[in-house]
Amino acid sequence: MAVHAHPDDESSKGAATTARYAAEGVEVLVVTCTGGERGDVLNPSFEVPEGHEFDSVEGRRAVRRLEMADAAAALGVRQTWLGFVDSGLPEGDPLPPLPDGCFALQPLEEASAPLVELVRRFRPHVMTTYDPSGGYPHPDHIKCHEVAYEAYHAAGDASRYVTDGGAEPWTPRKLYYNHGFSMERLRAVHEAMQGAGLESPFGDWIESRAAREIPEREATTRVHAADYFDRRDAALVAHASQIDPEGFFFAVPRDIEADVWPTEEFELADSRVPTEVPEDDLFAGLREESR
Ligand SMILES: [Zn+2]
Repeated sequence: MAVHAHPDDESSKGAATTARYAAEGVEVLVVTCTGGERGDVLNPSFEVPEGHEFDSVEGRRAVRRLEMADAAAALGVRQTWLGFVDSGLPEGDPLPPLPDGCFALQPLEEASAPLVELVRRFRPHVMTTYDPSGGYPHPDHIKCHEVAYEAYHAAGDASRYVTDGGAEPWTPRKLYYNHGFSMERLRAVHEAMQGAGLESPFGDWIESRAAREIPEREATTRVHAADYFDRRDAALVAHASQIDPEGFFFAVPRDIEADVWPTEEFELADSRVPTEVPEDDLFAGLREESR
């Protein structure tokens, strides 16, 4: 179960890993906390699909649902919505207040209850989400971490989140944080691009992150996923309102990427089965258990 904040996050964080596991027969469910209703159009060649509009919360939700369905099909995974409304990325100084009723403003218990219910019904062995910082400081990404962390720890406890639905408690075995954009990876790809005489898309990003001295979290688990980078790319392109097919995500030639960095990284945040890091499989320790 991969828990993400917005439609498109599943395609930019750990996407090839989910495609690989799905292709190998693992039942993969992407959970999207919000409808992405406050995302701006980030692709200059985007055209609003016929019969739709992108100017209202409802209009954007409908378009992004279409995009999400195509992305999930490209990855070969199932996907479901938690049903919360995008908080938007507040900008300015001072920052404006978050919009009424948005995901980030929900009390933890109310925000987590639908995910706890889903964990009890889907019964995942492994959950992935973001680290406590959100990976980047979007209020929905931080909230996404909080609800996934809460559900991972509470879903197995029959005394918590008692619902009418009557789903049995379920204890997931491992919790991971996505770390696909480590400085180590950015630097390696950056140097390979320069070595090939190409313009690197990561130069400014590396500089600004180094200047902010953001502490690097530890990648404990590297999943080989290069064979599924094409599926990840197809899923990204499906998010046509958000992803420019000529843009950042496609600036690194795929042969260079597969050669220099064929893996996707995760941090093992909790495990209820014996496992040893570093790992190369999110199910390490579980395959033995199920035999
Ligand atoms: Zn997001």
